[in-house]
Formats: sequence, C-alpha cells, structure tokens
Amino acid sequence: MEYLSRCLFELTKFPDFNFHQRCERLSITHLMFADDLLLFTRADECSVRLMFKAFQKFSRASGLEANLLKSEVYFRGVSTELQNTLLESLGMFAGAIPFKYLGVPLSSKKLTIQQCKPLVNKIASRIEGWASRFLSYSGSYYFRSVNFWDADIPKKSSWVLRRILKYRELIDEIGGWDSILKNNRVQIKLIYKNLRQQSPKVPWKRLICNNGASPRCIFILWLASWNRLLTKDRVLKWNPSCDLVCMLCLQENEDVHHLFFLYTFSRRIWGKDLQLLKCNKPVQGFNQELEWAIKYSRKSTLTARFHECGVH
Ligand SMILES: [Zn+2]
Repeated sequence: MEYLSRCLFELTKFPDFNFHQRCERLSITHLMFADDLLLFTRADECSVRLMFKAFQKFSRASGLEANLLKSEVYFRGVSTELQNTLLESLGMFAGAIPFKYLGVPLSSKKLTIQQCKPLVNKIASRIEGWASRFLSYSGSYYFRSVNFWDADIPKKSSWVLRRILKYRELIDEIGGWDSILKNNRVQIKLIYKNLRQQSPKVPWKRLICNNGASPRCIFILWLASWNRLLTKDRVLKWNPSCDLVCMLCLQENEDVHHLFFLYTFSRRIWGKDLQLLKCNKPVQGFNQELEWAIKYSRKSTLTARFHECGVH
C-alpha cells in the first residue's frame, strides 16, 4: 500500500494532473481504509487517465487489481457528455452521492440529523443491550437507592458489576482521593500516573520515542531491540525443522545481524545512510549498530533526528 501511495504521489508531479478542487490545498489524491480505496481528481480526461495509469502501475507491480464491477465513479458538476466519456474509458459505472459506507452515509455536504439518525439509533440500542445484559434490573435499582462509593457488593450481581465495584478499592491503593484530585477535580492523568508502575529506563528509548519513521518500522525496531523479532534463529528454538538459511541471499543463516546489517544488500543501504550522515565507520552487527545509534541519538542535532528515522 505504501507503493500505491508513492505511485499516486508521483502523479502529482505531472503538470497535466489536476487535483480535485477540494483536495488541492492538502495535496490529497487518495484515502484508504482496510481494502477500500477512494481516489480524488478533477474530472478532466487527462487527470483521470493519469490517475488510472498510476493505479495500473501499482497493479502490475503488486498483482492486486481493482474489481471494476465493484468500483464506482462519483461526479459533481460534470456535464453528462463528459461523464459518459470518462465512464467509458474507465469501464466503470457511475454512483450517486450520498451513499452508505460501513453503515454511515457519505455525503459531499454536511450530514443532516436525519442522515445520522440510523447510526445514533444503532449505537443507542447497543448501549441499551449492553446495560440490560450486564446490569440486571435489580442491579440498576440497587444503585438508585444507595451511594455508589459506599455500597456493598450485591451477592447476586453480575461479574462485570462485581469487577466495577471492586475497583473502587483501587483509589485507596494508589494513594487515596487526594492523590488524584487537582483543583477539586479528578484527573485521569493522575490516576494513570499513579497506576503505572515505575520501570527502569531503557537505553534505546530515544530511538523508539519521537521517531519520525512509520509506526510499523518503529515496532520492528522495538521488537528487535528486545531480541523478540521472529528471525529464523529464534524460530529454530521451538521448531527444530526450521531451515536456517536466509531466504534473501540463500547463502548465510538468518538472524537479526544478518538481516539488517550484514546481508550484502542491507549493508549497502546502511553504508549509504552512514555516508549521507557523514559518519565514517564500518557496518557492524545489530547490537553494535544499535549501541552506536543510541549514542548518536543523544545528540540533539538535526542530523541526529534524521538518523533516527534512518535507523530502520
Ligand atoms: Zn541473507
């Protein structure tokens, strides 16, 4: 999907491509949610053709194709003649706005109360269902008659209710009401702060926090820092039949050192990164590189921030 975003981003470099009127200021060409994709462009033949071409480029590389029968084109302020020409060239059907997406009406204008009503009703009935399932009639009646904070736990109450009541003790455990009040108001932040156990600081925190890389890359780095990444050397510990050979080079065994730094291709990329950062040092194994990166990230220069992104 990153490649699709890149293909569509390249599209914006063509002088002949025109953004959709409302998307120009933010340079939006597309939005994605799960396996759904929304593409936006001005409805001129050239822009539509360029956009379709960019998508096909992604299709060819990934093997993922859009089901044209399930895709629709939505027009606004376009002559019927041009609509027909565009639909014919794309091989798709025209859709009508507003339409429903995941049960929510999508409209080009602000939604009316009437349009939101089915959604509100759905949520209300869910909450009602939840309350009646977990809070019996006698339970809800009980709380109308007593103070929630002083009430005893009713013996015949549901599991959820018993848990909720039990957690009243938590306030005492984290230091009483005074510890969570500020200006006489309960602060969720203070509850969280008091609940959270103090753990020792990890040396690589600066590499993980405030890192500009994509969340997926940061997560992989975090796993690798804990030595929890499922490289083949680790899989072998519980699966003796695991073949250790690296699938990329088919020559050496796969472990975190090989995968990220010692494999020829990775070494070359990391070497180039170091060159860009003007760091004159040889490429080493994962642990040594991590140690070096931690030291380097303590510097608060711009290069250091850039480097943090580059660590992945
Ligand atoms: Zn390899």
